[in-house]
Amino acid sequence: MEEFSFESRLLHTPYEKPDAYNSLAMPVYNSAAFEFETAEAMEAAFVGRSAEHTYSRITNPTVQYFETRVREITGAVGVTALNSGMAAISNVMMTIGYAGGNIVTSSHLFGNTYSLFKMTLAAFGVEVRFCDLTDSEAVRKQIDGNTFALFLEVITNPQLEVADLKQLSVIAKEAGVPLIADTTVVPFSAFQANKFGVNIEVVSSTKYISGGATSVGGLIVDYGTFDWSRSPVLSSLAKQFGLNAFSVRMRKEIHRNMGAYMTPQVAYMQTLGLETMSLRFERQASTCLELAKRLQESDKVESVNYTGLTDNPFYELSKMQFGPLPGAMLTFDLSSKEACFSFMNRLKLICRATNLFDNKSLVIHPASTIFGTFSEEQRVSMDVSQKTIRLSVGLEEADDLFNDIKQALYS
Ligand SMILES: *Cc1c(COP(=O)(O)O)cnc(C)c1O
Repeated sequence: MEEFSFESRLLHTPYEKPDAYNSLAMPVYNSAAFEFETAEAMEAAFVGRSAEHTYSRITNPTVQYFETRVREITGAVGVTALNSGMAAISNVMMTIGYAGGNIVTSSHLFGNTYSLFKMTLAAFGVEVRFCDLTDSEAVRKQIDGNTFALFLEVITNPQLEVADLKQLSVIAKEAGVPLIADTTVVPFSAFQANKFGVNIEVVSSTKYISGGATSVGGLIVDYGTFDWSRSPVLSSLAKQFGLNAFSVRMRKEIHRNMGAYMTPQVAYMQTLGLETMSLRFERQASTCLELAKRLQESDKVESVNYTGLTDNPFYELSKMQFGPLPGAMLTFDLSSKEACFSFMNRLKLICRATNLFDNKSLVIHPASTIFGTFSEEQRVSMDVSQKTIRLSVGLEEADDLFNDIKQALYS
């Protein structure tokens, strides 16, 4: 189906088996287990000689259909759906990490990812090395023989920093380290991770994909482009499975043992969400750009951060990697934390809530919430300012949103 557009490929992804009732929507297979005709067929499924479903922690038809759709639109070789974006990141790290190994990344990370790397994985002997990912020399210096991942968020949140992926992928390749990207803030329709040398992509499908914040979910997207033969934990699988070594271990060991599977109900909602994702994104991202421009004109606003603004330092790079509409999230700075709080408290339409890319517009003060339990020193090192408001732009009319912002700024 390569010749068709994104939506056509997505909408017409065939089922693995014909549906008994010709259902046009993939049914929700709410069953823990699946029955077999014979003991022999059961053995074949359990040892991997057949691809029949056995138990929904391992695979489930509704979840598999969601994964197949994502494979169809990304061109990846392996797609795994999990119960959250954090499950996707932790399953990736459990698959390739080992005691004595290290992750090279930026301190500009989603709060729970930072905590996973710095605290949770530290207890297992994993070191995290923070550096400036926009400085390739700094990255080269941090990587050594025990680096098992170069990890980044394609547009960091809330700093909205953009690293040059092609440059980083060259460094990663030279060093024999996989480039792993969290692409949650830009949907598959706007950004093709594989083209920029990303080996493994992780996504919180809670955001653009879920279809208006219906459910929490995550995806691991493996492009099958990395040679795992030098990985201490994957080298023997690499002899047998080549470029698929990562997906084989992740799927057959880590994902089963950690048990963070996606439920069929969530897969159903997110399969539907995918169908309208690029449409919703176009509308939300163009409203976001419009609001960014209008906010720049306000004397109450100290600065506006959106990489789609032509005077943003990352504008050219962002346009090259993500196109002219780099996401539906922007940040802006007011004079103080107090100014941010009173602005938020006066909003009438925009909701005070965490999350991103709901159909409704959402506002949050990151320093006191997502990063609220971090020390001020940590927040400073992560460039999380008390003056910053984050806005996730929904499907409302741009004028309605701007009028709400204006009345909250000036009343
Ligand atoms: C939300 C988010 C996550 C975590 O995803 P959950 O689905 O909430 O577990 C990870 N990375 C980024 C960039 C996010 O925005």
